[in-house]
Amino acid sequence: MDTKVLADLLFPHVTKTPEDMEALFPVRNLPEGAIVSRMAPSPTGFVHLGNLVQGLTSERLCHQSNGVLFLRVEDTDAKREVPGAVEVLINSLKHYNILFDEGATVEGDAGSYGPYRQRQRAEIYHVYAKQLVLQGEAYPCFCTEEELADIHARQEAEKANFGYFGKWAVWRDRSLEEIKEALDKGMPYVLRYRSTGSIENKIKFTDLIKGNLELTENDIDHVLLKSDGIPTYHFAHAVDDHLMRTTHVVRGDEWLPTLPFHLQLFRALGFRAPKYLHIGPLMKMDGESKRKLSKRKDPELALSYYRAAGFPVQSVYEYLMTVLNSNFEDWRRANPDAPVDAFKFSHKKMNPAGSLFDEAKLRDVSKNVISRMSAERVYDEVCDFAKDYDADLYAHLTADPAYTKSILAIGRGGKKPRKDFAVWTDVKPYLDFFFDDWFKIADTYPENFDKEDIKKALDLFLASFDPTDDMNVWFDKIKQVADALGFASDMKAYKEDPTAYRGNVADVSMFLRVAVTGKLNSPDMYAVMQILGEDRVRARIQNMKNAL
Ligand code: GLU
Repeated sequence: MDTKVLADLLFPHVTKTPEDMEALFPVRNLPEGAIVSRMAPSPTGFVHLGNLVQGLTSERLCHQSNGVLFLRVEDTDAKREVPGAVEVLINSLKHYNILFDEGATVEGDAGSYGPYRQRQRAEIYHVYAKQLVLQGEAYPCFCTEEELADIHARQEAEKANFGYFGKWAVWRDRSLEEIKEALDKGMPYVLRYRSTGSIENKIKFTDLIKGNLELTENDIDHVLLKSDGIPTYHFAHAVDDHLMRTTHVVRGDEWLPTLPFHLQLFRALGFRAPKYLHIGPLMKMDGESKRKLSKRKDPELALSYYRAAGFPVQSVYEYLMTVLNSNFEDWRRANPDAPVDAFKFSHKKMNPAGSLFDEAKLRDVSKNVISRMSAERVYDEVCDFAKDYDADLYAHLTADPAYTKSILAIGRGGKKPRKDFAVWTDVKPYLDFFFDDWFKIADTYPENFDKEDIKKALDLFLASFDPTDDMNVWFDKIKQVADALGFASDMKAYKEDPTAYRGNVADVSMFLRVAVTGKLNSPDMYAVMQILGEDRVRARIQNMKNAL
């Protein structure tokens, strides 16, 4: 067969050559060792944790090596595309600090290796499709859906392997005349790769996460261009990652089975294959066994889940770091205040088998992350959350920002900061008593205390209360109240002989706490009283006295 005739017949409009493409998209001028990688999501409208895991890995590798990270929108599957999905995608990634140096943006494309949306690259793919036809490595296949279904059924009956290969590849060796005839009839066709591989052979391959692998060669004549001239993922991957000068492809390991085909394509096209990092799946425990996170069963797979649940971006980010790099946690413990970018991310620390997702662990990480934030930052973040998810909370927080910030500052900044919040929804129950319209007596005094003792304690405290006292004087006064009522002011003495006392100074503090905060647990009482101010403290204690 004269492949030149066939190539011109199929692609009469293609005048550019692969050499022209090389000149248009030259090798990037980057320092030695700079990694060029990308995120290449499909705009389905569903942005998930897997996207973030992949994006974060690529982002770290690129930016740590002074390389380039770009965003390519893989919109070749028009059926799955959802309007507005590209914006949702870009904004969600930005929300998680995944910033691109080039690629698709909300305003259009930025960068000189575009277009970065695959459907706009049809002409480019056709240059290489023509090239493969010319080389005798691609051919048109006019099989209808029914014919393909029939092949499948016969393979099933014969217990043969599925797919378009060998004797099943009915258009593989057709004559030019037969092809012309089909074209003249206007029959739609796909362009297929002519594989010379055999499943008897193995290829050796080194993945940067999975290590050394042996994979079965590909013998299927996979589709390169669909009948509308739009490429399949495989063909677009080879062409785009070559022309965009990707050095490292980071993607989910669901692509591993088709890797032998991708390597065939790189070879056929005369491209050097990039390095690959295939990430194992995200799993969770389901009873005793592990399973992959599923879109249908696990709401936590969607990125939108975390914002709505009130997790700060940084918590999710640091949690994923914990999951992705086994040494991140130790690093964070040794460097509690370092910016997260200072951590040296390494693909060598990634688990080839995938990672276990654990929301309890995420909450732990989040508590630590929030405990290290300044009151100012907590204020900004919780307001940002409340604005979208809790209008009432937002109104309370912003009514008097200085007041709210003083509340949020309690227990922050020291060596052992308080860890009250894992998610922003924890804030309201923590500080509600600071607002009169929310304040209520939620807890009751434990039964074992005599009401008269409580009343007397409240009375004595009121008599001595002076908001200008410093913390030590304030606490000494509480001790004096304890002594006056036969409660131990010295915990050591109390522990030695509890029966000698009616209780201890912690109980007396608790009498005050319930009166002032309505709760048995609250942040530091001295700080609470300072913030509430004398009038409110006196009024609440008085009310409690009257109610007892
Ligand atoms: N569009 C592919 C996906 O969403 C991209 C895989 C890749 O990164 O190459 O799975």
